[in-house]
Amino acid sequence: MKTECQDRTIQGDVFFAQAEKLQLAKTCRSQPAAFDSNRIEKAVKEILIAIGEDPEREGLQETPSRVARMLKELTEGLHKNEKDELSCRFHEDKAGVVLVKDITFSSTCEHHMLPFTGVAHVAYLPKEGQITGLSKLARVVECVSKRLQVQERMTSQIADAIESALDPLGVFVMVEAEHSCMVLRGIKKPGSLTVTMESRGVYREDQDLRKELLSLVTRA
Ligand SMILES: [Zn+2]
Repeated sequence: MKTECQDRTIQGDVFFAQAEKLQLAKTCRSQPAAFDSNRIEKAVKEILIAIGEDPEREGLQETPSRVARMLKELTEGLHKNEKDELSCRFHEDKAGVVLVKDITFSSTCEHHMLPFTGVAHVAYLPKEGQITGLSKLARVVECVSKRLQVQERMTSQIADAIESALDPLGVFVMVEAEHSCMVLRGIKKPGSLTVTMESRGVYREDQDLRKELLSLVTRA
């Protein structure tokens, strides 16, 4: 017979296991299941039937496999770690602020599975001359955008990757995007732009530095 104490331990373990699982689900960063094209093809066929279409008519016969290939491309960032994009680092003693503006991206909103597209501006202030290749910043944007996303999380994932890989004095990320789910459905507002921002380190602490960077970003 179990004592009360053992019972508590068991409950405690279960609790922690659940908390761990929840954390996994929240971050989606640990070992996502492999992409299953067959399952998607079957599901798309079901959707076609459910909306009243005939999946066997000529124009739709290849649609399930096309959608599966498309979704594979749009979610390939789920199976990658954006931090790996920053593994190549250099040393440049006098490196000042690095800003890459207008990195175009296309991502998929996780609430409606519709695209949101726009640009990201990514900046960091190197610590002790630790820098990475300029194209690597664009690769980080590409990696995190190829997931089911919300713009807020995408913005912080870019900042997190740079912060943890380069340990810079400051990071600043701004994302501007138009969301198809606000254009095609619901409120139907074409042209409205959603802006999200993340400031870390000196760009969080020092308003003047952040202002200076913002003026660089917004300068035409
Ligand atoms: Zn949406």
